[in-house]
Parts: sequence; structure tokens; C-alpha cells
Amino acid sequence: MVDPLGRKIEYIRISVIDHCNFMCKYCTTGTHGFEKVPKEDILSFEDIARIAEAGKHLGINKIRLTGGEPLVRHPLPKLVSMIKDVGIDDIAITTNGYYLSIYARELKDAGLTSANISIDAVNPETFKNITGVDAVHLVLKGIDDAIDAGIKVKLNTVVMKDITIKELPALLDLARSRNVPLRFIELMPKIDTETWNDMFFKITDLKKYIEENISPLTPVDAQLGKGPSTYYQLEDGTIVGFIAFFSMNYCQRCNRIRIDSRGNIYPCLFAPIKLPGLDKIRAGLEETIEFLKEGIKAKPEHGDPNAAWSVEMRNIGG
Ligand code: SAM
Ligand code: SF4
Repeated sequence: MVDPLGRKIEYIRISVIDHCNFMCKYCTTGTHGFEKVPKEDILSFEDIARIAEAGKHLGINKIRLTGGEPLVRHPLPKLVSMIKDVGIDDIAITTNGYYLSIYARELKDAGLTSANISIDAVNPETFKNITGVDAVHLVLKGIDDAIDAGIKVKLNTVVMKDITIKELPALLDLARSRNVPLRFIELMPKIDTETWNDMFFKITDLKKYIEENISPLTPVDAQLGKGPSTYYQLEDGTIVGFIAFFSMNYCQRCNRIRIDSRGNIYPCLFAPIKLPGLDKIRAGLEETIEFLKEGIKAKPEHGDPNAAWSVEMRNIGG
């Protein structure tokens, strides 16, 4: 479906759960305890499959499952196969990788095509300081097992002052040795201003650092995804991507809507618009199609990164 500004919307990101087994510093507002939501207020697998089917009617060809941590929701491979059964062929997850090793093969067999795996540091201590969990070895195994299972993998790294530049050699080595793209994501102001100011490092400065200290960056023409990332190749062949909400504007290329685990549509990550729809989704396929149309029509021309405080990343999944 085309939105009122002529953008083709072909991609829905669905947060299947707002719980997570990590506590990444940049992802929570510090309230750490998760709100206990009654099970009946959370999208069921049937609800999610109905959203996928409704999306298919409107020309959606890609669904991404995110969280919280999507692999905390059981059994995720079953949900993937339900989405596949309604005719969506491009099914992705965004995951912290902790449980990926266990589920990689099952997910692939169920129809999962790709996984964006978050890894901000390879150094175990640094990883633990960021996520609160001593688990980089599990994430690394998850990456390898996903690749072995035939899942297309990309790595996501949130760019942080004093951390990313130190971790760059190891992260680039990881991407190069596994032959997978590494994408740098600019820190979004989803946390308190003081923490954000302490951690923020401009993505354009990181790009400049790589060019001046590591390798020239050659733009890659190939479309490596349906997203906002711009890709470059290092001299050794490693592909890196940059996703920035402050330093680069990509609103005119936006092709997606987001739905959280309670059935609310967020037409834009950076606009305080939330359309509640659990009842509509549960009313049936026609009602779900109308709800998705409503969400697509509500997409603003531009988002404002500073207006996004009302929604936490772990609720909408990035
Ligand atoms: N738990 C999964 C994971 O970590 O990949 C999926 C959900 S997480 C919210 C999705 C993505 O959002 C991750 O790549 C994470 O690094 C990113 N993210 C979380 N908070 C962020 C922030 N404040 N700024 C930029 N990216 C953020
Ligand atoms: Fe959890 Fe992902 Fe947020 Fe980290 S970024 S706390 S893994 S939801």
C-alpha cells in the first residue's frame, strides 16, 4: 500500500513481547522491572498471523519479529511457520542472540529468512557492562549457528562514546571472518537525557574515524535490505552499514509501520502517534486490514527524534 506521501509501505515490524533477558543501558529508562501484563492483553500467535495475512492483502511482503527479546516468546518457530503459511516469504527477527544457538535450525526450517543480531562489544567485560549479562560467548555461538543453519545474518552495533571505537577492530574482524554486514546504529534518545548525552557518539564521526584510521569506504550500490542503512565496503571486503536518525535523514525512504505486543500501531518511530488496535485485530481479517490501512495513512512526513520519549525501545523493538 502507498501512504499519503507516495511511500510504498511493504514491511511490518511486530514486537512479540516487551520482556527481555538483557538490560542494555541504552534501551531501558531505568525502571528495569517489567510491567506484568495479563496474557490476554498480549497479541496471540493467531493475532500476529492475522496481522501478517492482512498485511499480505495490502502488499506487505516482509515481517520482522522483534521485542523485547523475541526468542523469550515461546515457541517462536511455530509463529514463524504460521506467518509463512499466510504467504509471507520474507520473515526476519531482530535478536540479542542469547537463545539463537538453540533455535537457529528450527527457525530456519519454519521459514525464517534473516536475523539481525545485536552485538555492541566482543570483549566479555564490556559486553557485560552494556547488557548486564555475561553472555558474549553465547551470542557469538548464536551468530555462527544461525549462519550454519542458512539464515542470512547482519550484525547490529549501537554506537557509544568510549566503547565503539575501542571495540571496532574486534567487531570488524567478526564481520569479516563471518562474511556478514556490520551495521552501526546511532544512539536514539530513548533514555534519560543525561545518560544519552554521556553515551552519544555521532555516526558521521565514526564513519570519519574509520576512513581516517582503518580503511577508505566505498559505497555499495546493492540493496542489502529494505531498511534505512547506507552500506559501504572496506578495502578488505567487509561490508559496513550506517543507520542514523540524527545525522542522516531517511524519512522519505521509510517503508514500514510498527506494531507492539499489545496491538498498538506506531506509524513512525519518531512521532508520538499510537493507534490502539487489539480489539480490531481480534474482530477479524477485514477489521485488521482496515486497521493497518489506518496506521499507514497516519504516517507523518517526518519524524522528530526528540518527540519519541513516550515509547521505549523494548516495547516497539527498534
Ligand atoms: N532484543 C532484541 C535485540 O536487542 O536485538 C530486539 C529488540 S531491540 C529494542 C532492537 C534493536 O534496537 C537492537 O539492535 C538494539 O541495539 C536497538 N536499540 C535499543 N535501544 C536503542 C537506542 N536507544 N538507540 C539505538 N538503538 C537502540
Ligand atoms: Fe533487550 Fe534488545 Fe533492549 Fe538489549 S536492546 S535490553 S537485548 S530489548
